[in-house]
Amino acid sequence: MKVLKFGGSSVANSKNIEKVLNIVANSSAEQSVVVVVSAFGKTTNALIKGATLAAQKNEEYLKVLKELENHHFRVVKELIPIKNQTPVNSRVKQLFNQLETIYEGCFLLRELSPKTLAKVSSFGELLSSYIIAKAANEKFASVYKDSRELIVASDNYNNAIVDFPATFNNCDEYFSNHEQKVTIVPGFVARTVHGKTTTLGRGGSDFTASILAAALNATELQIWTDVSGMFTANPSIVKQASVIDHISYHEAMELSHFGAKVIYPPTIQPVLRKEIP
Ligand code: ASP
Repeated sequence: MKVLKFGGSSVANSKNIEKVLNIVANSSAEQSVVVVVSAFGKTTNALIKGATLAAQKNEEYLKVLKELENHHFRVVKELIPIKNQTPVNSRVKQLFNQLETIYEGCFLLRELSPKTLAKVSSFGELLSSYIIAKAANEKFASVYKDSRELIVASDNYNNAIVDFPATFNNCDEYFSNHEQKVTIVPGFVARTVHGKTTTLGRGGSDFTASILAAALNATELQIWTDVSGMFTANPSIVKQASVIDHISYHEAMELSHFGAKVIYPPTIQPVLRKEIP
């Protein structure tokens, strides 16, 4: 089993999602894969902006909501044939209705608690993973699994601490009874011990992938992004930066802790412990 994670820019539009689906199709020809996806590029920022505006009693939040909704419906339209769009559109609409209700709550109460912020932020991955799973089904068999049913975490919202034993148990239980070749899951989101939605912190989809890789004793964890590899410096700032062909877990961890944005710092630990490449 391999775990493949695709970040926000890799799933920012339908053209990129098509590329992702080709990569998944090729990878799953050899062995089963778990695919972790981020929210469509920039969605999480927009979700948080919408909630912040609403809590400030600023009606501009409705514009943010509308733009997000339009973008998601556009992706559905571009990826899924008309005859199969109706159920997908109604699920997407349902999620946007829920989001709108939460925004209204923030607007009326002028309040945005950490718990509500976590809930709002989770919509990006819940939407993207669902749409991508439906698009994948047009090409190959795949199963959608909500990672909130797998990953258990503490209830300090937006920066939850993972309960590894409970998480590993859930993964074991689920995957030993399900033999599908491709499983598509949302990154970033988790469930608290009290059953509420939380997140693993900004950039947390990498961490989701690493947690699942460790839980499943994956043969490999692949983190796909728009930068090809780990570089000696940020290649968008330093022209002479070059790719590092091999890197130890500790060096990778240090790089991420000291600001290399290519990987979310807590990501390395779970795979290091299990020596997953
Ligand atoms: N969508 C989340 C964020 O923007 C998590 C992630 O992409 O890794 O922080």
